[in-house]
Amino acid sequence: MKSGIYILLTFIISICVLSEVSAQTQDSVRTVVAQNGDGIYKILRRNGYEAKDYYNKFVELNKDKIKEDDSLILGETYILPEIETTGQNVVNDSLHEIVRKNPDLLYADSVYSKELEGAIIYLISGHGGPDPGAVAEVEGNTLCEDEYAYDICLRIAKGVEEHGGKAYMIIGDPDDGIRDDKYLKVDYDEYCWPDLEIPRDHNLRLKQRADAVNDIYAENKSVKYQRVIEIHLDSRGTSSAVDVFFYHFPGSKNGKATAEVLQKVFSEKYAKYQPNRGYTGTVGERSLLVMRKVLPPEVFLELGNIQNEKDRKRFLDSDNRKAISKWIVEGLVEDYVGSK
Ligand SMILES: [Zn+2]
Repeated sequence: MKSGIYILLTFIISICVLSEVSAQTQDSVRTVVAQNGDGIYKILRRNGYEAKDYYNKFVELNKDKIKEDDSLILGETYILPEIETTGQNVVNDSLHEIVRKNPDLLYADSVYSKELEGAIIYLISGHGGPDPGAVAEVEGNTLCEDEYAYDICLRIAKGVEEHGGKAYMIIGDPDDGIRDDKYLKVDYDEYCWPDLEIPRDHNLRLKQRADAVNDIYAENKSVKYQRVIEIHLDSRGTSSAVDVFFYHFPGSKNGKATAEVLQKVFSEKYAKYQPNRGYTGTVGERSLLVMRKVLPPEVFLELGNIQNEKDRKRFLDSDNRKAISKWIVEGLVEDYVGSK
């Protein structure tokens, strides 16, 4: 009898709690009107969501108002998903987010030297957003060029800031910080500085990142030393292993000078750490869209090809990603100090 009452009580309490919850849900429905240029990721991010975690929920809630290609209708009202408070959505600030929110505070507590003080380095990781770049399948894992290029760029950004320089991550991913995993999980929510969705169209995509660099450059014209570093892992030719190559825009005196210093640092490092290896990476010219459009001198690095098994070792091991980034930062320090 006693337990009967207990069950009944529990049942009544449950109903009360349940109705309470649904009333709360009713009250807390948030809506938002799509503005010019809004996409799902952008609208979620602007409203404080981890876009990746809420993308599907957003689509589910608004399926009648989302176009075939997942784009939104300008001026239409959309329902925002309820924020889950399970702890997993606690904002996980990536380096990019930290840079975005506190451009002056990043690594302020861990500046080891001031060798890059006064320098601005723009980091463009190849591909991103809807374009994963070169893709390889390894032991059941899908490896995408953009994730590895991004990880290396983050490490360079960190190194630049640690030496007192200012780094801008032109391609950012709100939920990926520096990762030490061998297999980096692929996602498609990278965006372009400051918070632009990356278009599918190849030329628009490249133009967007060049414009982002130039927008920041326009506000920092007085800064003498500014360099763009672009990282790719899809060298031409996948059959034979390829070394690290450095490219600059034809006729760019400063781009060439920086590329040469970086190449020199790499050949010194390889000579020191792998004396029998033989390093054949060189400096060359390439007239690619981003390099052509960016105002600061650019060095375009091909670190090898992720589809080549031998090259891959250079990226899969996080210690190698760390070393490569460190060498690039060392090269930038040398180039900057020499330019003064
Ligand atoms: Zn690439």
